[in-house]
Amino acid sequence: MLSVEQALERILGYVCVLEVEQSPILDCLGQVLAEDVYATVDIPPLDNSAMDGYAVRSEDTCGATEQSPRFLHVIDTVAAGSISEYEVKPGTAIRIMTGAPVPKGADSIVRFEDTDEAQRKGIANEIGVLREVEPSRDTRRAGEDISQGSLVLSRGMVIRPSEIGVLASLGRSTVKVIRRPVVAILATGNELVDTSEPLPRGKIYNSNSYSVAALVLRYGGIPKILGIALDSESSLVAGLRRGVDADMLITTGGVSMGDYDVVKDVLAKQGEITFWTVRMKPGKPLAFGTIKGHSKGGVTRNIPHLGLPGNPVSAMVTFELFARSAILKMMGKKNLAKPTIEAVIEAPIVNSDGRRIFARAVVEKRGGQYFAQLTGPQGSGILTSMSLANGLVVVPEDKSRVEAGDVVPVMMLDWNEEME
Ligand code: AMP
Ligand code: MG
Repeated sequence: MLSVEQALERILGYVCVLEVEQSPILDCLGQVLAEDVYATVDIPPLDNSAMDGYAVRSEDTCGATEQSPRFLHVIDTVAAGSISEYEVKPGTAIRIMTGAPVPKGADSIVRFEDTDEAQRKGIANEIGVLREVEPSRDTRRAGEDISQGSLVLSRGMVIRPSEIGVLASLGRSTVKVIRRPVVAILATGNELVDTSEPLPRGKIYNSNSYSVAALVLRYGGIPKILGIALDSESSLVAGLRRGVDADMLITTGGVSMGDYDVVKDVLAKQGEITFWTVRMKPGKPLAFGTIKGHSKGGVTRNIPHLGLPGNPVSAMVTFELFARSAILKMMGKKNLAKPTIEAVIEAPIVNSDGRRIFARAVVEKRGGQYFAQLTGPQGSGILTSMSLANGLVVVPEDKSRVEAGDVVPVMMLDWNEEME
């Protein structure tokens, strides 16, 4: 039996970083940038006002106070998006709105609240300045955010909303990124029925395809649901063939020791099977291999295939541990580990068979310390306890018991803003 680390290492050894594509910027959230982005313009492009007020020559405000205002002749009004044709000459000012370019001759802005504008009825052609302003006050310099020619975003960065904003501010509508993997998902089991069908006696709805597809989406991949295969070689082969265009294939079920667990046999015939048990709980039966894909230019592509266990919790937990990292690697990401915190466990956990336990728990922060409480029965079919959990308490394989009050590592399923 392999350890979690050994299994992960083998899986990651099979998956490669995908190719680069040019995509619309808004489609790239969470993807890895595949080019260095240089600024073709200054941002902001011109000196402009940081406040609503009056563009002035700062020397004209010398000695201005509320008691002895300096009066200036107002020669124009300029809004963001317009450029005044006038020049601010000694004794004059131009009314200016935030973002409007600073007019010629002016070197500073006096805010509305530092003038007597409020006491005047309507817009006057004269304004009293009530305080001195130094040069450059409340102005934003051309290029102060980004200067033309500079390196703004580097290859390898993960694109977040702020990077999408920066790209838009540079006028970029598309950018080069490492493409998202297409992950084909095939559920196996004679007992399964799709959610669109009535439920005959003795059958259950296929939930795995949906929880797995949602996980693929969450981590940036493109899920392709292939439907349900029966527990027969022919049905399974037909299902798998529908997924050979994908970058990764995930099946659920059929990897245990039962009579109808044919996935590993089919895998062995269709490609290559690497292993099928991992020292963990839930999720011990796990298959990994490659399936022969289409041949392109005489080269046959081998598609990584992850055979997750059928139990709904096992399928999700093994996805989080293995499929997630594989997807992130294909997307060019470097940090493949789930965030893990330390929490005080509120009840004991017994580890009877030397596997690494991932126990569903709710983590809460109280008085600067995290506390983890198990979500109830830990059977691997109890999907609602996964829904209640925000983390998985990890009990190492060499530890037979953790006691209430012990500090344990918790792999967080939801992190930060999603954590209540
Ligand atoms: P298996 O690994 O195929 O032996 O499946 C183990 C158990 O998981 C089955 O008895 C089902 O109750 C359940 N199961 C398998 N596949 C699914 C699925 N796609 N959706 C929901 N439950 C499933
Ligand atoms: Mg089955």
